[in-house]
Amino acid sequence: MSGLALSGVAKRFGETLALDGVNLSVGPGEVLALTGPSGAGKTTLCRVAAGLETPDAGAVRLGGRSMDGVAPGKRGVAFLFESYALYPHLTVRENALSPLRAPGSAVPRERHDATVAEVLSLLEIAHLGDRLPAALSGGQKQRAALARALVQAPRALLLDEPISHLDAKLRHKLRGAIRRSLMTRDSPSIWATPDGLEALSVGDRVAVIDGGRIEQVGTPEEIWLSP
Ligand code: ADP
Ligand code: ADP
Repeated sequence: MSGLALSGVAKRFGETLALDGVNLSVGPGEVLALTGPSGAGKTTLCRVAAGLETPDAGAVRLGGRSMDGVAPGKRGVAFLFESYALYPHLTVRENALSPLRAPGSAVPRERHDATVAEVLSLLEIAHLGDRLPAALSGGQKQRAALARALVQAPRALLLDEPISHLDAKLRHKLRGAIRRSLMTRDSPSIWATPDGLEALSVGDRVAVIDGGRIEQVGTPEEIWLSP
């Protein structure tokens, strides 16, 4: 069992209770869409799962193992956050290759170039492979950062608003393409978005979060039909 589970997770920033007793599990191969308004706690939940924030209470388990005290780089988790953190001196292709070249990468060396080429093509940025991040638009930067997450074969994949900066047409096209790519994996994925319709279309299950609490969890049909 290689799922991701949060149990009783709480996280406070000063007066703000960003996460308030979150219980959530994502099974192997499952895409969980996490949706709710701005400030609901989506980013914090992803950051806690990635190990970038330490929860004040509760636990994160991956593959049945507690992640308590396990550093982000040692969790085998790939993530995309809104601040893309592309290496400015590396091209789009080199940025995408970088996690594959890091120690502990699960992708064998002979697969690196092909994996990067496939993902750049999936995200329609194959023609931008030789560009530096400074020469990219906002939507192109977002896709370059997303490529860096998708090339990996992580134990869990956390995508915080992965397509928010794309125009409507490309967003519609890529949400299907990315979803299909996630479905072929046997690791759990979380896809956070404030867009409820996007969540219903990409999630095997949808979790609705507000004020740091999970308000509803269910299949898209169940969430869609509930009042
Ligand atoms: P979302 O991703 O759903 O927009 P966030 O997880 O970013 O929500 O934020 C949840 C709440 O926690 C918000 O009220 C936000 O202002 C607050 N928050 C998040 N990170 C911090 C931080 N580092 N310091 C203080 N408050 C924070
Ligand atoms: P999002 O819109 O995805 O929630 P934000 O732009 O609100 O992202 O937050 C970006 C970063 O700033 C995150 O690392 C988050 O933890 C932090 N942050 C969010 N709200 C606050 C806050 N009120 N004070 C300090 N840091 C914050």
